[in-house]
Amino acid sequence: MKPDLTLPFHTIGSLKSRIGWFINMRWIVTFIMLASIPVSQKIFQFQIAYFKIYNLISLLLCLNIGYFFLYKYFKFKNFKQELIFTEIQVIFDLVIISFLVHYIGGITNPFFFFYIIPITISSILFQKKLPYFNALVAICLLSCWSFLEYFNKVEIYYIGAGKPSFALVSTSLIAFLFLVIATTYVIDDFISKYRSIKSMMDQKNILLEKTMHENDKMFRFTAHELKSPLTTLRSILGVVELLFTQKNSREKIQDMLKRAEKRSDQILDMVNDMIDLTHYKQGKKEISLKYVKYMDWFKNRIDSFVVLANNENITLNFKPTKSREEIILDIPSIEKVVNNLISNAIRYTPAGGEVEITPFIKKNQFGFSVKDTGIGISQEDQEKIFSDFFRSKNAKQKSQLGTGLGLSLVKQIVNKYNGNIVVESELNKGSKFTVTIPKIEYL
Ligand code: ADP
Repeated sequence: MKPDLTLPFHTIGSLKSRIGWFINMRWIVTFIMLASIPVSQKIFQFQIAYFKIYNLISLLLCLNIGYFFLYKYFKFKNFKQELIFTEIQVIFDLVIISFLVHYIGGITNPFFFFYIIPITISSILFQKKLPYFNALVAICLLSCWSFLEYFNKVEIYYIGAGKPSFALVSTSLIAFLFLVIATTYVIDDFISKYRSIKSMMDQKNILLEKTMHENDKMFRFTAHELKSPLTTLRSILGVVELLFTQKNSREKIQDMLKRAEKRSDQILDMVNDMIDLTHYKQGKKEISLKYVKYMDWFKNRIDSFVVLANNENITLNFKPTKSREEIILDIPSIEKVVNNLISNAIRYTPAGGEVEITPFIKKNQFGFSVKDTGIGISQEDQEKIFSDFFRSKNAKQKSQLGTGLGLSLVKQIVNKYNGNIVVESELNKGSKFTVTIPKIEYL
């Protein structure tokens, strides 16, 4: 059963098992009392109300049978009902003990420490104020009976030599008060710490289970995603092998090898992205911060995409500002963000389209936007594109090769630097990705 972290116990079931344990304890106590009365009658000549004690034990037995059936066959609607049921038992037990203590000699009989049993149980079972309330009930009951006995307002039973002095009654009551409060405090403190440790462990457990589940999912996805380029690679190799036996197949072989090269690049990209992604997710990626002139640095990055854009017949429009400001950058990480977004824009824009890149520096932030006139992303897919391995249908049609990990990596990096990435897109019209990252103040 899954732990419910809003409860003081692991599960409702564990409170239920404690109620069962409480009822069993009552069977044992009544049995011990029944067995000890004849012994006491034989050995001691106490002036105590044996007959009334038998009645009290019968009442306790009847109540316990009732509790037992309720516990076994009544379906409690919620946790609160079970707590109320337990609290009623504690209060009845205290009242029965108060009568019992009165019948066996009141405060002159050391057995008045019987009260400690339900008080201990209540401190274990309940939280916050309830254990202290029950402790107070116990103190009030014992004090009431003691004063009623002392002022002869009720029938009196003694086990010792006559009526106790006022000093004895009051010191016993004070000792009892300290004992009850101290017991409640110590148990409550111990149990609260135990509960908070338990709740922490439960939360860690849930987190661990979730991580294991995610790892499992990632493993399945990875295997699945690697399978398709590997299968293609395998079949290309098969075809190449066959072509070798044929005459004039040089060109075909060359073409096949090029395709094989592309597929192996895709696998390599995927593996590299996965390694990077895992490092960023685990916070293991090294940070290498440097001062750079942001606009100049950006321009150098763009240069590496000019050839690619030209090959695809796409106009690359770079719109830097005149700023010469130096900012602190984790170059390898930011480079990954820039490269991924620009290469996506080029890849998902048909020939003749345009990609516009605008870096910016503000007072406390820097960033850039990449806008394209490409295939666009549907509203529904916009929510999924940052998940591992997601590739939209139209993206797969436009470009067979892709890992579905690039944006996931981008998101991890941007989050790591407390930044933000926003996508605006319309299907078949184009997309705009804007990254904003707070400036790093000191190196
Ligand atoms: P990949 O590009 O390798 O498929 P990414 O994680 O970089 O993986 O992108 C995830 C998905 O987001 C892409 O498959 C595509 O569906 C969508 N996408 C990303 N950038 C663009 C873009 N500029 N235009 C249209 N779709 C995009």
